Amino acid sequence: MSIEPIYFRGRRFWVLRDDLIGGEFNGNKARKLAFLLNSNLNHINRIISYGSSQSNAMYSISLLAKMRGVKFIYFTNHICDFLLNNPCGNYAYALKNGMEIRLSDNPSQSAKNECKDSQDIFIPEGVAMSKAELGFKEQAKIIMDFAKKNGIKFDIFLPSGTGCSAAFLAKNLNDMSVWSVPCVGDAKYLKEQISTLDPFNKVKILNPPKKYHFGKLYLEIYEIYKELLDSCGVEFELLYDGVGWLTLMANLDIFKGEILYIHQGGMLGNITLLDRYRRKFDM
Ligand SMILES: *Cc1c(COP(=O)(O)O)cnc(C)c1O
Repeated sequence: MSIEPIYFRGRRFWVLRDDLIGGEFNGNKARKLAFLLNSNLNHINRIISYGSSQSNAMYSISLLAKMRGVKFIYFTNHICDFLLNNPCGNYAYALKNGMEIRLSDNPSQSAKNECKDSQDIFIPEGVAMSKAELGFKEQAKIIMDFAKKNGIKFDIFLPSGTGCSAAFLAKNLNDMSVWSVPCVGDAKYLKEQISTLDPFNKVKILNPPKKYHFGKLYLEIYEIYKELLDSCGVEFELLYDGVGWLTLMANLDIFKGEILYIHQGGMLGNITLLDRYRRKFDM
């Protein structure tokens, strides 16, 4: 079953296990890339994108490119020494899948310039694009079918980067509210991002209990990750879900219905992060 209950700190939460769909190709990046996975790429030579050298999106595009026999070129502005010397996580697997990585001071511009003709596909950072909506129609249907069958009205919660997943999930649901929290940038930035993708969106935005800088390490994030793993047997992702669960637990009183948490995958990214946590906090 793709939606399952977990019991955490004495309360029931439902979890949509998108981390378990499609094997290696999973999580919200699989939802976002569904439009490519299901389309004819015979006339396509290359996929071109950009972003961070540890991004989950980068890894998922590399996998899709490999599966479909298309070249993948990725622009980034920095690869840290540690990663260069010890390739691991998303970066290592993307290279293994044949990704060609290029350094640039202006990765988004370089990626756009690299696209020459209709045989090149440009994918913006984090796959935040209107075509990404397709996969969320399917996700919304799974949630609505489950809710109807079990007579539940969910309050849905998912942490955001670009806000693309929250925007398109909310757009395709009727009668259920969607809540999110910014993990990259602040609430104002997230609102703007979501409005660009869907000007009529009704996504409700919560603030994290304190300011978390994306990619930085925080002991309380590791602690809630570990507590969820030990008490529920589910591994969540550290960058987004860490902030997500801390925010959810700090705001429990505002949710009237049953809470559905969307597990958006990204587990490969944990390898690099766990390594950094162990070194920083001497665990
Ligand atoms: C990419 C990612 C997000 C952010 O998704 P957006 O659609 O950009 O908001 C959240 N959680 C995980 C695990 C991710 O990999």
